[in-house]
Amino acid sequence: MQLSRRINNVVQGGSDGWEVHYEGRSRQAAGEPIILLTVGDHDTATPAPFMDALEASLRGGNTGYPPVNGSAPLRAAIAKRLAAKTGVETTPDQVVVTPGGQAALFGAMMAVLDPGDGCLLVEPFYATYDLTVRSASGRVQTVAARAEDHFEPRGDAIEAALDHGTRAIVINSPNNPTGSVYGRETLGAIAEIARERNLWILSDEVYDSQVHDGEHLTIRSFPGMAERCMVIGSMSKSHTMTGWRLGWVAGPAEAAARIADLAIATTYGVPGFIQDAAEAALETGAAEEAEIAARYKRRRDIALAALSNRSGLALHHPSGGMYAMIDIRQTGLSGQAFAHALLDEAGIAVMPGESFGAAAAGHVRIALTVADDRLEMALARIAGFAADRAKRSA
Ligand code: PLP
Repeated sequence: MQLSRRINNVVQGGSDGWEVHYEGRSRQAAGEPIILLTVGDHDTATPAPFMDALEASLRGGNTGYPPVNGSAPLRAAIAKRLAAKTGVETTPDQVVVTPGGQAALFGAMMAVLDPGDGCLLVEPFYATYDLTVRSASGRVQTVAARAEDHFEPRGDAIEAALDHGTRAIVINSPNNPTGSVYGRETLGAIAEIARERNLWILSDEVYDSQVHDGEHLTIRSFPGMAERCMVIGSMSKSHTMTGWRLGWVAGPAEAAARIADLAIATTYGVPGFIQDAAEAALETGAAEEAEIAARYKRRRDIALAALSNRSGLALHHPSGGMYAMIDIRQTGLSGQAFAHALLDEAGIAVMPGESFGAAAAGHVRIALTVADDRLEMALARIAGFAADRAKRSA
């Protein structure tokens, strides 16, 4: 039987760059000392107090159907967090709880895109963005953020990439995969374009607590933006809760209500005991959140120390998030070829930049998700490998 064009179109053919990860993982499982710097998942479990809160809720009997849009206390805690972090007044009716930031992205795209509407993605982008746009029957448009511009998109390039059918722009700061944190100038330029062209901004801020230099700045706080902006948030990265699947959309109240309507047709909400644990984590977990953020800053500093002023590579300064981009163009290799050869010869798995879009060609992304000593060892091997390859290609 024929499946719908929409579902057949979700995942498009071709390499997605994960082959290096899968090969590394199977060699690791076979006993080889491979170090995986590929996945954006933590190397530590969720802090114990959050697990205790989950257990207390479960044993207390919160096992029935949850409120589909999120429990009132959790939405209040999220609204309070956003107001405190960003200075933008936020009310609980502007928040809808979703199973992770991914479902928040899908809900937000479903809320703003009619079939065929353009949704502009800034390349390089997080690997699910394009298939999420297609799942919502939108049309993927891209604009390159160049390494030379610290991977921040330029206003004129965005203007040139838009057409009359564009409805929304997705931005992500702190950024996966580049580690860039958009400055006031970049966000101001994007906000101006959105106001002038009457566009939605979907602002993915799931790394908002991992800003290594300076402060987190949200485009939602710019003049006239709260009414045309939806912020995507998540407990995954900030609280080491990736497997718990708890995220949110914060935006205009009407949009939050419609995204909750969509959840009736899909997930029917997030389990109540997970919502209770998330609420406890937001209300009482500031120390744990700060410790998690400090861990990634420390590893970022390790990467800066290990990879600065090296021959064969250049580290793109990561200002936030859990990753770093390494420019390996001096080796004469593509990101893909570099990643495969690095795995073969040095036992390190990294993501080819190309898997995040052509704008990251000639780069590889490392995830700072292994213990500090293993990270140091891996970085030393990467530096040695790149220097050797650059010498050979000279
Ligand atoms: N957005 C970005 C930029 C991400 O990197 C991720 C996960 O890696 C997500 C959203 C989705 O996160 P989750 O669904 O775990 O909340």
